[in-house]
Amino acid sequence: MLGQMMQGRLLISALLDHAGTYHAKTEITSVETDGSVTRSNWGEVQRNAKNLASALTKMGLKPSARCATIAWNNRRHLEIYFGVSGGQFVCHTINPRLFPEQLVYIVNHAEDEVLFIDATFLPLATALRDKMPTLKAIVLMGTRNESALEQIPELQFYDELIETGDDDYAWPDFDENTASSLCYTSGTTGNPKGVLYSHRSTMLHSFASALPDCIGFSARDIILPVVPMFHVNAWGTPYAAAMVGAQLVMPGPGLDGSSLLKLIDREKVNVALGVPTIWQGLLMAAKDAGSTLDSLKRTVVGGSACPPVMIDTFRDVYNVDLVHAWGMTEMSPLGTSNQPLAKHGALPLEAQRKLRENQGRPPFGMQLKIVDEDGNDLPHDGAAQGDLLVRGPWVLTGYFRPEKPEALRDGWFDTGDVARIDPDGYMTICDRSKDIIKSGGEWISSVELENIAAAHPDLLEAAVIGAAHPKWDERPVLVAVKAEGRDPDPADLIAFFEGKIASWQKPDAVVFTNSLPRNATGKVLKRNLREEFGQVLM
Ligand code: ADP
Repeated sequence: MLGQMMQGRLLISALLDHAGTYHAKTEITSVETDGSVTRSNWGEVQRNAKNLASALTKMGLKPSARCATIAWNNRRHLEIYFGVSGGQFVCHTINPRLFPEQLVYIVNHAEDEVLFIDATFLPLATALRDKMPTLKAIVLMGTRNESALEQIPELQFYDELIETGDDDYAWPDFDENTASSLCYTSGTTGNPKGVLYSHRSTMLHSFASALPDCIGFSARDIILPVVPMFHVNAWGTPYAAAMVGAQLVMPGPGLDGSSLLKLIDREKVNVALGVPTIWQGLLMAAKDAGSTLDSLKRTVVGGSACPPVMIDTFRDVYNVDLVHAWGMTEMSPLGTSNQPLAKHGALPLEAQRKLRENQGRPPFGMQLKIVDEDGNDLPHDGAAQGDLLVRGPWVLTGYFRPEKPEALRDGWFDTGDVARIDPDGYMTICDRSKDIIKSGGEWISSVELENIAAAHPDLLEAAVIGAAHPKWDERPVLVAVKAEGRDPDPADLIAFFEGKIASWQKPDAVVFTNSLPRNATGKVLKRNLREEFGQVLM
């Protein structure tokens, strides 16, 4: 017997219609490429997104045509997110920090037909457009600009394009499993791989992320997604914000600490999301400017392990709750987030704080497990560590047009991370499996050592790698960047680990470098560090 309830399809257009109907006047603040600030609202985003969908349909695009963006977080990018997906096309966000060859590779691999660019990326598009034969249109996200036409004669202009859309355009209705958006992993080895999200997966991810124990969004929030819209859809923030009708502050290109500080203070942002290096920049700027970050109540951090000292600083100095989250492009990206349980309230303060340091627990829908090298399940006892596998309705089943098909493991996706899980489901990332340090028969977590080093006042940043060792195969080496005006002694740095971990896990040596190499999404390139420093113990 079937239930007798209506079917509402889980389409991205429905998210925007909700925001446009019930939160029409809720403001979207946008820092434009030239630094100016514009203010629109969900009603206007809805109108423009519909016009865009109509214009793209008139352009002759067929359902599932890929439309790429190379753009900052701004209001037009938001309209493109909803207009492209809502119109039954696929919104393909591209990371401008990729190498040009990688960028050309993914545009051709995806067979993008339209490319939307911010003015910043005009030179990039000019240089590469001959190498991207599937493109039928390049659209500058702005008003008519004669000098830009000199660079790309066929260039179209977003504000003119949406004018060609019909006012009575109605969103198409289609299967909620239809592809909605496309993101490529940064590909530190080999070619980037595409992850193709669906309307349904995006919608369920939004429900999950908006839950109070996950990221927790509401109509009373003023949200600043610093995490770029080209980085796993800004962790899904635009969709979740539309779902709850929150105010959005789009930061544009200025992602340095002092620009963000001014924006947060001026726009009274209360929730912000970004990777650890962003928050490090903000904390330094706030300290220099003597700001108390009054409006900010919550920051969400993920993408790389968050050093506990950062959680402490936000809480103790600024009264901001820093929520540690973990995820991957392959998971839309949200896997876990760290929010306390009721029973934790009875624990001593120190224990409560300690529990907030790990990557957190999964929301409903996401399942986690750890396995040994033979694939046997390991206990969730907080001690056993193994390969982390996940499954859930916003985890991929396979990559988009793969070079070679990579099977799931019995229906689970292998994250490539090594983790521990405690009986309440709180998960601790020990390492990427390729970065974990194998010393004799024992494993040492580079993340754990980095978390300790991050608290040393003489260091700006630090990474730990496994360096080849004649007796132990590998031993940890600390690769450190000195803080400005500081000159720490290597022996003191190693002594800093004393009492914080087992003594056999302490780094064997310290090497100094000027900055840590990072990939297009800001993750430290350990492989490069191993190439440079991997033999220092031999
Ligand atoms: P994202 O875009 O969310 O950063 P990527 O697919 O680029 O996702 O990278 C995912 C990987 O980043 C994870 O498998 C994990 O190794 C690492 N990562 C993400 N968040 C965290 C975190 N909070 N702590 C430790 N590692 C993390």
